[in-house]
Amino acid sequence: PGAGAVGYLQGMNPEQREAVETLDGPVLVLAGAGTGKTRVLTTRIAHILATRRAFPSQILAVTFTNKAAREMKERVGHLVGGVVEGMPWLGTFHSIGVRMLRKHAELVGLKSNFTILDTDDQIRLIKQLIQAEGIDEKRWPARQFASALDGWKNKGLRPADIPEGEARAYVNGRGRELYAAYQARLKVLNAVDFGDLLLEAVTLLRQNPDVLADYHKRFRFILVDEYQDTNVVQYLWLRLLAQGSHNICCVGDDDQSIYGWRGAEVDNILRYERDFPGAKVIRLERNYRSTAHILGAASHLIAHNEARLGKTLFTDLPQDDDEDKVFVASAWDSEEEARSIGDEIERFQRGGTPLNDIAILVRASFQMREFEDRFVTSGIPYRVIGGPRFYERAEIRDALAYFRLVMQPADDLAFERIVNTPRRGIGDTSVRTLHDYGRAETVPLTEATRQLVATEEFKGKTRTALRDFLDSVDRWRDLLPAMKHTELAELILDESGYTAMWQNDRSAEAPGRLENLKELIRSMDEFESMEGFLEHISLVMDRDSGEELDAVSIMTLHSAKGLEFDTVFLPGWEEGLFPHQRALDEGGRAGLEEERRLAYVGLTRAKKHCLIWFTSNRRIHGSWQSSIPSRFLDELPAAHVEIKETGSAYGGYGSSFGRQNPYGASRFDSVERFQSNYETPGWQRAQKAQKAAGGGRGGFSSPAQQSYGRTQPKLIEGE
Ligand code: ATP
Ligand code: MG
Repeated sequence: PGAGAVGYLQGMNPEQREAVETLDGPVLVLAGAGTGKTRVLTTRIAHILATRRAFPSQILAVTFTNKAAREMKERVGHLVGGVVEGMPWLGTFHSIGVRMLRKHAELVGLKSNFTILDTDDQIRLIKQLIQAEGIDEKRWPARQFASALDGWKNKGLRPADIPEGEARAYVNGRGRELYAAYQARLKVLNAVDFGDLLLEAVTLLRQNPDVLADYHKRFRFILVDEYQDTNVVQYLWLRLLAQGSHNICCVGDDDQSIYGWRGAEVDNILRYERDFPGAKVIRLERNYRSTAHILGAASHLIAHNEARLGKTLFTDLPQDDDEDKVFVASAWDSEEEARSIGDEIERFQRGGTPLNDIAILVRASFQMREFEDRFVTSGIPYRVIGGPRFYERAEIRDALAYFRLVMQPADDLAFERIVNTPRRGIGDTSVRTLHDYGRAETVPLTEATRQLVATEEFKGKTRTALRDFLDSVDRWRDLLPAMKHTELAELILDESGYTAMWQNDRSAEAPGRLENLKELIRSMDEFESMEGFLEHISLVMDRDSGEELDAVSIMTLHSAKGLEFDTVFLPGWEEGLFPHQRALDEGGRAGLEEERRLAYVGLTRAKKHCLIWFTSNRRIHGSWQSSIPSRFLDELPAAHVEIKETGSAYGGYGSSFGRQNPYGASRFDSVERFQSNYETPGWQRAQKAQKAAGGGRGGFSSPAQQSYGRTQPKLIEGE
């Protein structure tokens, strides 16, 4: 066809166009952020449809999130000028895996109406199996095994494939047997777990050549976004399917590989040409998203990584002298950080930026709490993307249920939520009995329990468990008047076994949940009493959770992948938080590099404005600790960065936030502590050397140097 005349191709650069028009054979688009990879995929689908190379149902297109799938469908519709009916095979790996399995369930020993287990069910099942084996569940926690299972499944390993040594490391040396028993049990229950969705799909295709042949005929074209974050089993599945038409097009950016901790293998990109012979590799270098300053900062930062393929990026967006540099500011603590960012957002809003174009990207979900609290107070509409809002998270609701029940024994909802969380052997039947009794006698569940444990209604362990639970709640209530509310809260979570439940949890989310619980206690410290705190929570929770028309987006860096916003705030750039301590402890150099890629993802989400914050103090367990600015700040190029004179944290001059620092001189204590407690960072040594050489404060080359130059104004003036 006369492609030149086709509207959807207009405005694409030659490389993009090549990626769109090379329909036959494998293609890998390897390119940096904002170069139009996703747009290439969308346009490619439009091109396939417009040139009638395939029907919508013959295209397999994999996106990273369901939201991205919806958007892609919509955009293809725009491009081809109409609604695209039925692209049944456009979705996430999981959604497509489910679809495939339902179609052929009987071939892998399931019925097509199989259920997908959630984590709770999965844990319960594993626990039963461990107990049935007569193995001590305390020594070999079910959650730990669940996460091992997940890891194996992500790697495409079935029980027989697990290396001997590795299998021995689990459940008293019986890892492999238990894995097999677990799978057999799932079949009996007509169920799969999340990890099975693709593993079973791979098994299906491997064991049934006729089915595979059908899919080879069906899928004329395969397209994959965010290829750098595929794991082994996803890769195996793609490779099997692509053996048919060989028309597979993957787009990705090795610098944005941020799911290594979940088994993603960036190597999949590196070996693409070997696995898909004759692959055409196309590089896109022009960035259409961000200003030169943002791009310059991001490219410079990521250049500190050793493990990368290396790419150049440039922008043709007109370089405007007034264009904002990447902005770095500091705050005394996270509360001030949230307030300052809130103020900035209101400033942008007054300047005409819709809130929809503004995002706050955090490293850890606990950081959201401070922003949500602040925005509720000051009336800035916000939405949390990619997860529940802070106070709606499961672990927060559980913890709050404990506190509520202590405060208010008649709170039946709270009672029900936690009576068996963590598991105490109080089953649904027992709870139903309590309910029936409570309704008949019109007493709350707590009272029903009290009366029934005094009778013969419950036997043995259940009775003991109920009595213990009741006793604990009573005891905590008695402690209320005497104990500081935050300490009591911690004691409740500890004594109830709730904290331990997550400590023993080996799933990838568990550490984040523990952080959230700590943040909850911290936030409680801002209130006089448990009562005042719970009242505040009910106000925050009561807020209309419906989609705001115009609202700031709050999300983690991980869930921001692929998105873009006019204005992006990046708070919490402090050592230990970002890079995250856990990534450093567990991943070493590789962990650090993955954190740096996450920083790169964050910076490159911004189109026009990118504002980074760090705090000089974090409150940990009620006591202040001075924090060290993230090493990533040091790695930003001075030419593209502007350091904000922040008032309150660093001496109050030129304050744009107009608030007196209530902490007086103590801030200098913290700087001194910082200096004595930690190894002197490179820039400080440079600063000292410079001073020794008679240099002034000018001439620092890195932003963090500059910002820290400013952390000690009085010390310097006093010299
Ligand atoms: P990421 O790596 O962050 O996922 P990406 O490479 O997928 O980025 P896109 O999201 O496809 O990049 O494109 C970034 C922005 O640039 C989008 O707003 C897109 O519409 C725009 N864009 C891409 N190509 C062009 C083009 N040829 N002309 C104008 N705008 C373009
Ligand atoms: Mg993209």
